Amino acid sequence: MSKTITSDTLSSMNIGPNIPQERRILTAIPGPKSQEIIKRRSEAVSASLGMAIPIVVEKAGGGVIVDIDGNSIIDMGAGIAVVNVGNSADRVVENVIKQVQAFTHTCFMVAPYLGYIEVCEALNRLTPGTHKKKSVLLNSGAEAVENAIKIARAYTKRPAVVVFEHGYHGRTNLTMAMTAKNMPYKEGFGPFASEIYRMPMAYPFRFTGDAQKCAVETLETVTHKIEKEIGARNVAAIVIEPIQGEGGFIVPPKGFLPGLAKFAKDNGIVFVADEVQTGFGRTGKMFAIEHENVDADLITTAKGIAGGFPLAAVTGRAEMLDSVHASGLGGTFGGNPVACAAALGAIATIEEEDLVNQANVIGEIMVTALADMAKKYSVIGEIRGAGAMQAIELIKPGTIEPNSEAMSEVIKYCQQKGVLILSAGTYSNVIRLLPPLVIPVHLLKEALEIIDEAFATL
Ligand SMILES: *Cc1c(COP(=O)(O)O)cnc(C)c1O
Repeated sequence: MSKTITSDTLSSMNIGPNIPQERRILTAIPGPKSQEIIKRRSEAVSASLGMAIPIVVEKAGGGVIVDIDGNSIIDMGAGIAVVNVGNSADRVVENVIKQVQAFTHTCFMVAPYLGYIEVCEALNRLTPGTHKKKSVLLNSGAEAVENAIKIARAYTKRPAVVVFEHGYHGRTNLTMAMTAKNMPYKEGFGPFASEIYRMPMAYPFRFTGDAQKCAVETLETVTHKIEKEIGARNVAAIVIEPIQGEGGFIVPPKGFLPGLAKFAKDNGIVFVADEVQTGFGRTGKMFAIEHENVDADLITTAKGIAGGFPLAAVTGRAEMLDSVHASGLGGTFGGNPVACAAALGAIATIEEEDLVNQANVIGEIMVTALADMAKKYSVIGEIRGAGAMQAIELIKPGTIEPNSEAMSEVIKYCQQKGVLILSAGTYSNVIRLLPPLVIPVHLLKEALEIIDEAFATL
């Protein structure tokens, strides 16, 4: 039986700070106090950084973000799928305080500590597959992806890396090369790393034919291109997000991922699942590849791993992780003890509060409301996702032409009404919903009502 989270259960579950779980709008967004600070932001902070909502945060927890003007905004983004356990989750805070008082840094490669090892043990246990696994800890999702490539190249002694259209893997030089979308991630930042080959993605909404045909034909194209254009024996790794995040929550049709994994296995290629966005319960499984019972050779994680602290990991086959020469991997801060303590708190929260199941409860509520909207509003082209990771792709009515204007209007309307939703998509026409997995159900429903209202006013 699934328990659903209400405001009452939220406080009795001791999941986060005691902030009233309500939507409350006291000023226009941004309010006067936020406006003042945002002025300072423009003076002091590089203009290159985006800002999804122009507010200044005072506190956050459960399903809300409270700004310095006293507005309480429903959080449908979780800091981009990071605070799956909510902000300042009790177990995260307790572990962090204890760790900060004990020691803050020794560098794991200088003098090791238990927390790092325990996070690796947890990752080796939680990731799918019964094979012997090991892990290495890093600072960011991009760094995890970079290290997965290092490991795959060291293990296979091959150079090439296969990635996909609409894929997102980060903003470092190697991961920019792997990321598909030029603007804003790559424009003017080249030259990029070599030996990265981009393949078509199985994207049923933009494929003529049914989902099964999309899986089969795209897989055929991909394997043909790998064999003819790269040579399978030159490929170190195939890297794919089991559900593409920044690309617009593109869910490959059933069969595509297992087919790729099999091709990789048959050709001695390391199959890497980039679960940086989909991991830690987000999609209604601990990891998204479990939806199709695929065992990845390596899994990259970050975002949801540590309740908001910077931590990332590569987890996978022990023989691959151990194929790198001694001292070949590492970094000054990777697996920082405070971040590890936070991760152990976040992982305990996910397991003890059954948040994986809660992601499915959230998913059902979202899908019901979104399917209803899709019937009413012709700008909605498709609803898709898994668990608490759902998206709305917007189109010009009667076509599949992207409608980014409608997306911007819906997002702006929601912001003014105190609901934070995020954009995504290669064509900037996708609204993505990623609430914290501890959002009280009444807030989730209220947010969906506001989104419905936003479509009605288009
Ligand atoms: C966010 C993301 C990354 C990059 O993570 P950072 O921590 O921002 O470096 C890589 N892969 C996927 C799938 C992501 O969603």
